[in-house]
Amino acid sequence: MNEETIIRTAVVTGGSRGIGRAVCVQLARQGCHVVVNYCHGEAAAAETVSLCRAQGAQAVAVQADVSTAEGCKKLFEEAVNAFGRVDILVNNAGITRDNLILRMSEADFDAVLDANLKGAFLCCKEAARRMVRQRRGRIINLSSVVALRGNAGQTNYAASKAGLIGLTKSLARELASRNVTVNAVAPGFIETDMTAALPEAVRTEMAKDIPAGRAGQPEDVANAVAFFAAEQSSYLTGQVLCVDGGMAM
Ligand code: NAP
Repeated sequence: MNEETIIRTAVVTGGSRGIGRAVCVQLARQGCHVVVNYCHGEAAAAETVSLCRAQGAQAVAVQADVSTAEGCKKLFEEAVNAFGRVDILVNNAGITRDNLILRMSEADFDAVLDANLKGAFLCCKEAARRMVRQRRGRIINLSSVVALRGNAGQTNYAASKAGLIGLTKSLARELASRNVTVNAVAPGFIETDMTAALPEAVRTEMAKDIPAGRAGQPEDVANAVAFFAAEQSSYLTGQVLCVDGGMAM
């Protein structure tokens, strides 16, 4: 197939809700086939698929737990079965298990590192193999401003998100000569289920810390992801872009 006529395929982990859903819809709008990964939310993933199709794109939902190697293998196999290739990987799936360190269990530390950091590593491995062969690809990892600033009560989460920055820069160096870019987006305080779960007092306190004076929307983050995913962004790699209304500057 001619390079120009290839319809790019995007795999978005945790695409069923929140930021992941907005990323799926934005990439669909830009003409990509979209693979919407989810872990538990089958109905939500089906809704994201419908939203992508409403943009005129092809989309499928794939259930897979990205914190396991089997899950990641299955995700990429089903993506390739559906669309024949993977050109864009967005490592968006993430969880929190907040607590002060003296009360944080080892299990909660491991669960967050497994879903947020090991999951991204495993998906990068699956993607890199295929993208290097294709001599083209875009990998975008969802980090967080807490990776740069820290956050009391989130030692596990902040460590996983800081780990993603190291992973992003190292992999960017490994893959740059193969026309595969690897970048990170670090959102600040975005209105999704994840932040809705925070106590009102914490939400109010966080909002005071945002120069823009408001929380962000999933679409604000999706725009930054789409920017890195664009064909025109081929000379941008190893970068961390904060989408945070000025919070981390
Ligand atoms: P969210 O609303 O809680 O959604 C999380 C998504 O991740 C869901 O689609 C969920 O799928 C999926 N997921 C969780 N564990 C998974 C696993 N093991 N395998 C596959 N999918 C899994 O989160 P969000 O706020 O949109 O956040 C998206 C990303 O941005 C996360 O990495 C988060 O850390 C990061 N981020 C968010 C904020 C914010 O303010 N919201 C700020 C900074 C960074 P199911 O529902 O199917 O389980």
